[in-house]
Amino acid sequence: MARASSTPLNLLGYSHQQLVELLAQWGEPRFRATQLIKWIHQRGVIDFDQMTDVSRKLRERLARETEIQVPEIGLEKASSDGTVKWVLRLPDGNAIETVFIPEGGRGTLCISSQVGCALDCTFCSTAQQGFNRNLTSAEIIGQVWLAMQRLPAPEGRKRAVSNVVLMGMGEPLANFDAVVPACQLMTDDNAYGLSRRRVTLSTSGLVPALDRLSEHTDVALAVSLHAPNDALRDRLVPINRKYPIAQLLDSCRRYVEATDAHSGVTFEYVLLAGVNDQPEHANELAGLLRGIPGKINLIPFNPFPGAPFDRPQEADVLAFERRLQKAGYVTTVRRTRGDDIDAACGQLVGQVEDRTNRGMRMFRLHAELPQTDRRVS
Ligand code: SAH
Repeated sequence: MARASSTPLNLLGYSHQQLVELLAQWGEPRFRATQLIKWIHQRGVIDFDQMTDVSRKLRERLARETEIQVPEIGLEKASSDGTVKWVLRLPDGNAIETVFIPEGGRGTLCISSQVGCALDCTFCSTAQQGFNRNLTSAEIIGQVWLAMQRLPAPEGRKRAVSNVVLMGMGEPLANFDAVVPACQLMTDDNAYGLSRRRVTLSTSGLVPALDRLSEHTDVALAVSLHAPNDALRDRLVPINRKYPIAQLLDSCRRYVEATDAHSGVTFEYVLLAGVNDQPEHANELAGLLRGIPGKINLIPFNPFPGAPFDRPQEADVLAFERRLQKAGYVTTVRRTRGDDIDAACGQLVGQVEDRTNRGMRMFRLHAELPQTDRRVS
């Protein structure tokens, strides 16, 4: 990780192993890393002075040479259905979005991995924003840290967040080096201690990175498939031209095997009216996924201004679902949540200072905010 020497190290994003290595250079034993991780991630303490079981000498050095920088909330917005969205302001003027979705006994936090996205999927509003930069691992895990701090634990539960999905802005596998330590912290018993099945990384299919992932983490895998053949997927998910479906599915099989993931892969499929939602698409999809352990998650398209697609009729969604179920697939339809606060899938836009040449597609959905918004500063 290259850093300017004047920038203090932000310990928030350090995995246990990275902290062990840093402290070893200082001649400190391993257990100090465990202590620090517990203070930061379990107790939410970011002031070194309060870390009372750490020696004064080490605390002073930590304060001199490192920092624990947490994200700054630009806006916290609650939906009528209980969904909460945060717009997080980054030091460089960009903003990203994080969404919390409570549902029954579960609380799912949807986090971002990049400022914007470079992959240009035609049905996703994040893509319209262009791309600015990768988030640091501190900025990624910072979203989890923050939600844990902000959300009160529901009755009878230890905390509000039970699941994390990397399904916000960005392509997580395009930011591999920062995403891996963040995932490791989520599943680390001394940090957030989420089971590997409760952390889901969603990718549009960067095959070489997916092949490396299992060497570092065994979190659950979701794949944004969206089409049953290459001709259609090339149009909807342009990265398919580089890593076509057959390669992607082989890589999925390898991941499932390497991580011993009995639940398999979740295949996400955005339903676009008249484009990929016809009976023949369902049949082709059923043939394509034969033999791969996992399930299919259908996502009726969430429109955004200027989108070139429509959401299918409810009856078409159900017919598509039933066809897959009849073919033997566990298939679910993702209910739209938080769309009154622009927090639904594919609606996360933040504020991206576009560095690609897509600037003319800039959306500023958050420029005007209703009076009722709760501002946190
Ligand atoms: N880049 C990763 C992570 C983003 S996940 C990926 O592609 O998987 C966001 C999920 O929401 C993906 O499955 C994505 O395809 C889906 N999505 C994007 N735009 C959408 C829209 N307008 N309506 C419904 N789902 C959308």
